[in-house]
Amino acid sequence: MAEIAVALSRVQARIGKAAARSGRPADAVRLVLVTKTVAAERVREAIAAGHVDLGENKVQEGRAKVASLADTSARWSMIGHLQRNKVKDVLRFAHEVQSVDRISLAAALDRRLQSLGRELPILIQVNTSGEASKYGLSPDEVMPFLIELAAFSSLRPNGFMTLATFTPVETEVRRCFRLLRDIRDRALQEAPQGAALQELSMGMSGDYAWAIEEGATIVRVGQAVFGKRPTSDAYYWPGIDGPAR
Ligand SMILES: *Cc1c(COP(=O)(O)O)cnc(C)c1O
Repeated sequence: MAEIAVALSRVQARIGKAAARSGRPADAVRLVLVTKTVAAERVREAIAAGHVDLGENKVQEGRAKVASLADTSARWSMIGHLQRNKVKDVLRFAHEVQSVDRISLAAALDRRLQSLGRELPILIQVNTSGEASKYGLSPDEVMPFLIELAAFSSLRPNGFMTLATFTPVETEVRRCFRLLRDIRDRALQEAPQGAALQELSMGMSGDYAWAIEEGATIVRVGQAVFGKRPTSDAYYWPGIDGPAR
């Protein structure tokens, strides 16, 4: 039983060390524990071990899991590609959406939030790898997007999210993380939201230590805690075919 708790504390220790290498305290990096494909009973073990900050990639799966863990203090983030017709459903369980990547989605979220009288913390997803298969804005689109986003008063943009290139090549993975950091630094100076845009959600099981060294404030980790997923990564990010890290 302690297996998940042990893996979790191992990951947290590694996060702390990487944060220290980047001159920051361990609590400067938030761990979103990614629970996709993980059965609710196993997620419950992580919650029992004290970790309530959870992420799901797909609305359908997320909703069902949230429902079966409704008696816990879990808090859920949406981290996967989101269709406009799922906005209503996602707002039933998510307290944050990390994957906002187009104006039509922002508009749909804002409209629904207005009617609920609610605000939503969001991150803007950027495609730093340049892979056509990845979701997210291209780096050039970010600044105009932020300007348009300012019109949606229910959305609270806190920063940026990315997935690095699927490659074991460290320099390429770090290039993606640095690119997101540069985009963030520029937005802090020039975007209408300015200083609010601090967050950098980058780094997964295979690369979160590198991401933290490059400035990540949020890492999204699943397999390093729950073990290998039965589904291939291509199920979540259509088109990728590189080796998983
Ligand atoms: C699944 C997923 C992760 C975590 O991947 P692991 O390999 O399980 O650490 C991170 N971000 C997103 C968007 C995901 O869908």
